[in-house]
Amino acid sequence: MNDADRGRVYIVGAGPGDPGLLTVRATELIATADVVLYDRLIGAETLDGVRADAELVYVGKAGGAPGAASVPQAETEELMVAHARAGKSVVRLKGGDPFVFGRGGEEALTMLQAGIPFEVVPGITAGLSATAYAGIPVTFRGVSSAVALITGHEDTDKGEPALDWAALATFPGTLVFYMGVGALPAIVTSLMAAGRRGSEAAALVECGTLPWQRTVTATLDTLAETAAAANVRPPALTVIGEVASFSERLHWFGGDGLPLKGRSVVVTRARPQAGELADRLRRLGATVVQTPTIRIEPIAGPSVSLSGYDIVCLTSPNGVHALFERLHAGGQDARAFAGTVVAAIGPGTAQALADRGIRADVVPERSVAEGLVEALLDDRVAPSGPAAVRRALFAGASGARETLPEALRASGIEVDVVSLYETVSEPLSQAALAAARQADYITFASSSSVRALFGALESESDLAALAPTTRIVSIGPVTSETLREHGAEPHVQATRHDIDGLVAALVQDATAAVGSAPAERS
Ligand code: SAH
Repeated sequence: MNDADRGRVYIVGAGPGDPGLLTVRATELIATADVVLYDRLIGAETLDGVRADAELVYVGKAGGAPGAASVPQAETEELMVAHARAGKSVVRLKGGDPFVFGRGGEEALTMLQAGIPFEVVPGITAGLSATAYAGIPVTFRGVSSAVALITGHEDTDKGEPALDWAALATFPGTLVFYMGVGALPAIVTSLMAAGRRGSEAAALVECGTLPWQRTVTATLDTLAETAAAANVRPPALTVIGEVASFSERLHWFGGDGLPLKGRSVVVTRARPQAGELADRLRRLGATVVQTPTIRIEPIAGPSVSLSGYDIVCLTSPNGVHALFERLHAGGQDARAFAGTVVAAIGPGTAQALADRGIRADVVPERSVAEGLVEALLDDRVAPSGPAAVRRALFAGASGARETLPEALRASGIEVDVVSLYETVSEPLSQAALAAARQADYITFASSSSVRALFGALESESDLAALAPTTRIVSIGPVTSETLREHGAEPHVQATRHDIDGLVAALVQDATAAVGSAPAERS
C-alpha cells in the first residue's frame, strides 16, 4: 500500500481568526479534506470552504462553543489516527500556528508512532499577529531587539514546567504571554517580584484580528487592575515591553465607520451561494455566522434540448449552473441557446448567465415570478404579441412555484418544466444554532432556506428562543410570506429582491437604528 492509499494527516495552522490570514496551503487543504478536526480558537469563517460532504469534527477543549463538549487530547489523536487509517485526508486545524502552544508537536509524534504520514502547515501565530493588528511591532530598532513567546498557564499541575521568572524579568526584549486571562495577576506579581520594572509599558489584545478586536494599554504595575476594569476576556494576549506604547499611534485595525461593525449576521444560504453574501457583509464590518441549512443537489437526467423553444426561463443562479452541467454532459455548450429568447428572474440569475457568455434578453424589474410573467408577456419580448411565443421552457428547482408556468399556459403558451436540481436540508451543528440564536440579524434569501432553518430548529417554538433583539431580514415578499407561515414576522424586507437589495436593506436598518449600537462584546 502506498502513502496515497493510506490517508494522511495535515497539522494545519488556521491563523489568529481573520480569514485573510489563512495560508494558501491551509485553504487548499481545507477545501479538499475528507475530515476536518478543528479547535475552538479557529475563525468562524475558516470552515466556509470545506467540501459539502466533508466530515467536520469539533475537538475543542473546555470553554468552547456553547453546547460543544470538551474533547480530551488523547481522543483527538485517536480520531486522527483512525480517520487516516481509513484512507482519509485528515486536516487537524488549530488556531494560530500548530507548533506554538498548540500541542501540534505531540500530535506529530503520535502520527510518527502510528506510522501515519503527516505534514505540518505553519500558521500565523497570535503573538505576532494580534500584536501587529494592535499596532505593536514586537521588535523595534533601538527599543526591543528580542521577543519571547511565553505560555502563561494558570497552574503547573498540568505537567508544564514552572516559568523561570528571574530569567523572564531580565529578558532583554518584549514578552508576549499567551494565556487564560485569569493568570494575569500572578504573571504581573511574579515578574515584578523578580525585578521587572513596574513602569514598563504593557498591553492586552483581546480577540486579535477579529472585527471586534480590543486593545487595552497600561503599565506593568497597573495592568492587572486595568484588565479587570475593562473586563478583558479570552482569547487575549499580554504584551510587556516598551513597544506596547506604539499601539496608541500605530493602531490601524478596526472597522470603525463600517456600517455593520460589531453586528453579527446569520447567512442561511447553501454554502456555494453563501460566500458572496457573507463576503459583502464582512466587508461592511459584520461578523458573519453561516448556517447553511440547505444544500443544492443536481438531479441526474437526460441531456436537455433547447431547440424548439421560443423562450428559455431561468429562475435562479443554481438553475443556470445546473442547466449548463446538463448541456455539457450532453456534449453541448452555450450555442444551445441560439435563437431563443432567454429570460432571467433577476439580476443574480442574469449574472450567472453572463458568466457563461449569455446575455439575458429579459430581466424583470421585480425579481418575483409575477414580474417575470409581466415582462414575458410584454410586447417588447414578443414583438407580434404574446401569440408569437408558442413554446417556453422553464429550468429550475424541483418543487418550485408553478405561478410562472401556469400564467404562461393561461395565455396559450405551451410550457415545459424541467427540474434540474433540488434543495435538501442540511443538519445544523449545535454551535451554529447557538450562534444563530444570539445574532443581531438573520437573513433569508429564499423560501427554501426559511423552511430548512425551521426544519433544523427542533420545533418552531425554538425560534422564539432567538434573542428578542434579533432582527429577521427577508429578500422579498415570497420569502416573507413563508416566514409568516412559520410564525416569524420579518422586521426588514428588501425593496430589491436580490443580494444587493438584501444587503442594502440590512445596512439601512442597522444605520437607522439610532442608539441601538451593539453592546461591547465579551
Ligand atoms: N497555537 C496558537 C496558540 C494557542 S494557545 C497560536 O499560535 O496562536 C491559546 C492562546 O493563544 C489564547 O489563550 C490566547 O492567549 C492566544 N490567542 C489565540 N488567538 C488569539 C487572538 N485572536 N487574539 C488574542 N490572543 C489569541
